[in-house]
Parts: sequence; structure tokens; C-alpha cells
Amino acid sequence: MSKAIVSSLYDSDVFKMACRQFDLAADAINLPEDIRDRTKYPQRCLAVALPIKRDNETVTVFEGYRVQHNLHTGPGKGGIRFHPGVTLGEVAALAMWMSWKCSLAGLPYGGAKGGVIVDPRLLSAGELERLARRYMQEIAPFIGPHIDVPAPDLGTNETMMGWMMDTYSSHIGRNEPAVVTGKPIALGGSQGRREATGAGVAYLVKRYLEDMNIPIAGATIVIQGFGNVGGETALALSAYGAKIIAVSDYTTGIYNRGGVDVKKALAYVQTQRVLQDFDGGEPITNAQLLALDCTVLVPAALERVITPEVAAGLRCRLLAEAANGPTTFDADKILDQRDDIELIPDVLCNAGGVIVSYFEWLQNLQNFYWDRDEVMQKLFVVLERAKNSVEYQKRKFKFSRRLAAQTLGIQRVAEAKRSRGLSA
Ligand code: GLU
Repeated sequence: MSKAIVSSLYDSDVFKMACRQFDLAADAINLPEDIRDRTKYPQRCLAVALPIKRDNETVTVFEGYRVQHNLHTGPGKGGIRFHPGVTLGEVAALAMWMSWKCSLAGLPYGGAKGGVIVDPRLLSAGELERLARRYMQEIAPFIGPHIDVPAPDLGTNETMMGWMMDTYSSHIGRNEPAVVTGKPIALGGSQGRREATGAGVAYLVKRYLEDMNIPIAGATIVIQGFGNVGGETALALSAYGAKIIAVSDYTTGIYNRGGVDVKKALAYVQTQRVLQDFDGGEPITNAQLLALDCTVLVPAALERVITPEVAAGLRCRLLAEAANGPTTFDADKILDQRDDIELIPDVLCNAGGVIVSYFEWLQNLQNFYWDRDEVMQKLFVVLERAKNSVEYQKRKFKFSRRLAAQTLGIQRVAEAKRSRGLSA
């Protein structure tokens, strides 16, 4: 088998990190050489130019992407990110992680991701709507309920999914709710989808603390990132009786040993948009926040924030990766050596979002809708099953928990590729 001939299209630190994780996992399970490269590299990608009319009548062209890493285990699945730091390489890495995540959870999906290079906070509501619709218009021929199904991610939300579903439906001339998930309930969104990622993170934190014999009541929690995932994780963990001692966003961290009032902080962010100047605790830096003494640290923002230096200085008992790819490859080696810290790896920890996206897609296809209790119950069953398979794999092969989760995810995708063979 000769090596893949690949361009530098996806070159970036984050794509390299996803590839190094893949290589490590492929070696660990002796994945046959002739299946490796086609399991590893994205199947296809689309880059789009997005001209929109600004409120001042000028025109700005934004750039966007959709990467379909794997379409062999079902339609592609994965969110759309609106962020100034988006690159094609980042979207490719995130698409790769979606493949392993869906596979690990046993969802009949491949992996995909989208992104637009934009700071959505700098656009008016009207401009944002025009950009979201324009993005969907450009990717419409490339996606569909049985091809690739987008969803929210960093910088996008259910309102935007509603606009995108509307644009796609106009494009094909009929109503098609199953083309995106994470929609408003009125458009076929699922009960519980907005809370799903955070609820899943909190459920797994509760279950792992049980395994570690640490009571969740009174456990201290630090959360980096206070968007949809960080906020919902904070709420769900508080409901389990844990104490949120610090939260942060890109403007500041807020520390309160007695417990941050999560509802008050969320209400503040609703009106002020950022945590800056919130008076529910003392301000701290990002570096201080990550090094706080706590039971659980939850990175719920961007990739690559746990560097080797941060990993060496962590003072948590459990690291719950609500973000995708928060720990660098080299930092992971340090975590492996630290017996004092347990890890819930991203592809397991934040899978709640895509699991309920799957439920939403099923409800749309069947036109049969479930209530919230049913959604949550089914979510926890799927998470519990994924957790058990990770723990079994970890014990059986003496793998780290990340390696256990990644090998399980990769194995199923590779198996599907092998079984399908090569056409033509
Ligand atoms: N963006 C989320 C993720 O990274 C959800 C994806 C989805 O629901 O399709 O898992």
C-alpha cells in the first residue's frame, strides 16, 4: 500500500492534532494499512464565497466551508461554526471528530462540519440572517436529509437553523425540516435539543463521579466558556447539587468559592452579551481559572486550550471535555501520566448534542414527535451505552480513556469502508 497523496489544503495545527490522534489509535488497534488513509482523510469539501448586503448598503463577501469527512456510515452530521478564527483545517478536524463521535454513540451518521469566517457579534440581526441564508443557499446542492445534515455549533443557534431550514425548503420547493437539526420547536425542532449537550455533559460527570466515589452534591465545578454548552452544563450540574465556583467567557472569568449564581449570570449575559463586569464574584484570568483547585474542570469553548503547561498545572479530579479538541496531543501525554486526574474525552463527553440531533432528525422523518421526558430518557440510555463500551475497551486493552473512545469510533468507520469496498 503506498501512502496517500494529499495536498496541504487542510494544513493547520488542529488538523495535524486530529491526524496524530488518528495515527495513534490506528496503531493501537493495528488498523490495516490499506484502510488507514481513506478512513483518516476527509472525503470531500466545499468552499463558498458569501456576499451579503450590509445595513449601510455596502457589500461584504465572507468565506465559508463544509467538510464531509465520512459519508460511508450514513449522511454526514455536524454543526456550523460562525467564528473569526475558522479555517478549512479547523473545520476538517472538527468533521473528523464528528465521524468518531457519531460512530462511538452508534448513530447511523458519517461526520461533517461547516464554518464561516465571521465574528457574528459584529453583525446586526438582519446581516446575520442574510449571511446564514446565503451560506445555506450556497451549500444546498451539497447537503440534504440523506446526504449531510448540519446543526448549530459555536456562534450559531436555533434561530439561525430556522432560517437555514427555510432557505433550503424554498430552494427545493417543499418543506424539509430534516435538513438541519437544532431548529426552533415550531419548525420541527426537538424537545430538549437546546439543553442536550450540557445535559449530556452533566449526566456523564455525575456517572463518572459515582465511579470515583465522589458525591456530586457539593462537588466544585469550573467551567471555561459560557455559551450554550457551558451555560446548560452549569445549570444541569447545579440541579444535581454541584457548586459552580467559576465560569468564564472570552472577556473575563468570574470566581466565587461560595458558588456562582448560575441563573443570575445567565440572565446577565442575556442582556449584556458578555460576563464582563458581572458582580457575582471576583474577576480572574483564563490561566487562573484553568488552574483552580476543583472537583471538575469543564472546558466548553475552543480547541487546544489545555496545553502541556496547563495540563501540568491542573488541580481538578475530573476533566470533562465539553468542547471539541480542547486538549493538545502533547498535553494528552501529560494527562496520561497523571493518575490523579480522570478524563471524559470530547467524543464521549459532548455527544449529547448530536444524539438529540439524531432524535430530532428521526422525528422529522417520521412526523411523529416525542415529549421532553422521552427525549432525555433515551439520551441517557445512549450515553450510558457509549460510556460502558468505552470502559470495556479501556479495561480490555489497557488504553487511556481517550484512546478507548477514539479506537471504538475509528473501528466502526474503517469497518464500514472495508465492507463497502472500492467502487469503480
Ligand atoms: N456541533 C455539535 C457537535 O460538535 C452538534 C452537532 C450536531 O448536532 O449535529 O457535536
